[in-house]
Formats: sequence, C-alpha cells, structure tokens
Amino acid sequence: MRRKFVAGNWKMNKAADAAVALIEAIKPLVAGLTADRDVVVCPPFTSLSAARTALAGSGIGLGAQNLHWEPAGAYTGEISADMLLTSGCTHVILGHSERRQYFGETDETVNRKLNAALKAGLAPIVCVGETRQEREAGRIEAVVLGQISGSLQGLSPAQAALVTVAYEPVWAIGTGLTATAAQAEEVHALIRGRLAALFGAEVASAMRIQYGGSVKADNAAELFGQANIDGGLIGGAALDAASFAAIVKAAG
Ligand code: PEP
Repeated sequence: MRRKFVAGNWKMNKAADAAVALIEAIKPLVAGLTADRDVVVCPPFTSLSAARTALAGSGIGLGAQNLHWEPAGAYTGEISADMLLTSGCTHVILGHSERRQYFGETDETVNRKLNAALKAGLAPIVCVGETRQEREAGRIEAVVLGQISGSLQGLSPAQAALVTVAYEPVWAIGTGLTATAAQAEEVHALIRGRLAALFGAEVASAMRIQYGGSVKADNAAELFGQANIDGGLIGGAALDAASFAAIVKAAG
C-alpha cells in the first residue's frame, strides 16, 4: 500500500516572513493528517532556514525546488545537495517543466541532479510531462516515457525506490486546465509500466507517482482516488493555507 504524498511547490513566492506566516497557517489545518500521509512544502532557497524553524515538530517535511549536481566549487549562483541538507531539507523537486522550459534543464541534467540528491540522502521528486502540442501530436507516451527513461537512467532498483515521480502535463500547470482523472490515470499507468520495465515490478509498485497541474480542493479527491495516482505536486493552490490543507485532506 503506497502512502499518499502531497507536496507544495511555492516557486518564486514567499520570502522568509511570508513563508513562516503561510506555514503557521497550514500547521493547525493539517495537524494529525501527517500520521498517515506525507506532506512537504518547498519554499524558495532563501526561505528554507526560516521555514525549517517554523516546521519543527509539525510532521511536515521541507523541500527545495532545485540543486546543482556538484558538491561544491566555482558554480556561481548554484546550491548543492549538501547545502540543502544542512538547511533542513528532506526533499528536492527536480526537472520541473518551468526549469526545463526556461532554464535549459534536460533529462541529462536532471539525471545528474538526481544522482547528487540520492547520494546526499535527499528524497527527489522528478517531474515529467508533455506540452499541449506534444499531446495533440499523439506523442504523450513517447515524451513522458522518454523523460522517465532519460531522467532515471542508470539508477539501481534500490535507488529508484527512493524516487517520487510527478506527472505534470505542461498544459495543465498554472492554467486552470486539469487533466481529467481518467486522462491522468492513463498516463500514470504507462509511467508505472515503464518503471516496472526499468526497475522490476516490485519496485515499480512501491514507487509513488504524484499528479500535478491545477490541482484544487474540488478536484483533488477524484484525482487521488485513481489506482496509480499517489498524491499531488501542487503549485498555485499551495500558496493558500486553506486550499492546501483541503488538498492534503483529500489525500486521505
Ligand atoms: C506545479 O508547478 O508544479 C503545478 C502543478 O502548478 P499548478 O498547481 O499551479 O498548476
């Protein structure tokens, strides 16, 4: 039985004071829920330290939104996996479509980052998903499964077991357009099939696959009720305590 997992991707929102205020608002609303599901918030780098203090004892985990694959060195503006660990992170989002689209992230760089995260002991959330044009061209399977194979290339089954995949159709991110539960489930099942081919059926059946793309309080329960949907990666709705808490509740 896979434990449901809801993560909030705050993107470039919530400087330290605002991050703490949002966490303080979320905490009482999800108190008790973290006993049977995983909840993580992913603020921007500069808010991690304050967020860590605010989250202490809450049962809510802390994640970052990116890292660099090298452990240290002349990489101006970058942050290493160990730096995230010492800032209190347990998780890291890798290969988000905004990073692929605006910052040149590729399956190869995601793969390097994934190895760095695993080596440091961070739990990675690896994002994949097709654009609207790719969907309309009938290329969902080729694109998404290609990203899975490329991003997770070379991992051992034991390493893969530590990875969460987030299926986020690019056309549904921040647009208010959500994949229907049936559309999402179809792709999640394909992803699990590819994970089974790569890492074996047992590992694949234990790996969690989140859905992301305009998940809201009113569509979360139906999405999370699908056989291969194990929770969500939440953008816009994660910036509002009541909405985020309602989505966490829907993962029950
Ligand atoms: C995201 O950016 O990961 C995301 C799913 O955003 P939204 O929920 O706003 O579509």
